[in-house]
Amino acid sequence: MGYEKTFSIIKPNAINKNVIGKIMAQFEENNLKIAAAKLSKIERSKCEEFYAEHKERPFFGELVDFMTSGPVMLMVLAGEGAIAKNREIMGATNPAEAAEGTLRKLYADSMGENAVHGSDSPTSAEREISLFFEPNEIVNE
Ligand code: GDP
Repeated sequence: MGYEKTFSIIKPNAINKNVIGKIMAQFEENNLKIAAAKLSKIERSKCEEFYAEHKERPFFGELVDFMTSGPVMLMVLAGEGAIAKNREIMGATNPAEAAEGTLRKLYADSMGENAVHGSDSPTSAEREISLFFEPNEIVNE
């Protein structure tokens, strides 16, 4: 495990709720650093590339529509065991199954509009970070 970087997104439904700061505070309170951040809108083609592993799923179109529907906060988080720690802070994909106090329990509206994304493995983290950030944009590792 050790010191890692992971990729995180605050999704459009959470941005609508005006809780960017509350979500970032949870990362900081759990000893994750915001290594890079930008508020942005994801292009449709980029979003399809990002979620390529879900291309054949019935919800793919809905997922891409939602993720390109408004601004998102794109982040690189860094810290000891950052990948697993971020997944723990986020909670289960389905908010009905998310533990008390997790970001998805607090801010998700549904399985699709579930407030946050976090890489699920070192391979995904590397791929996802490089899709959205140039190495020189990661300024606070
Ligand atoms: P994650 O790693 O916890 O984000 O979950 P997955 O990799 O399984 O799914 C990726 C994303 O697809 C989830 O975060 C949801 O936003 C979305 N998703 C998963 N299942 C469904 C579903 O049944 N319906 C819809 N609309 N979106 C879903």
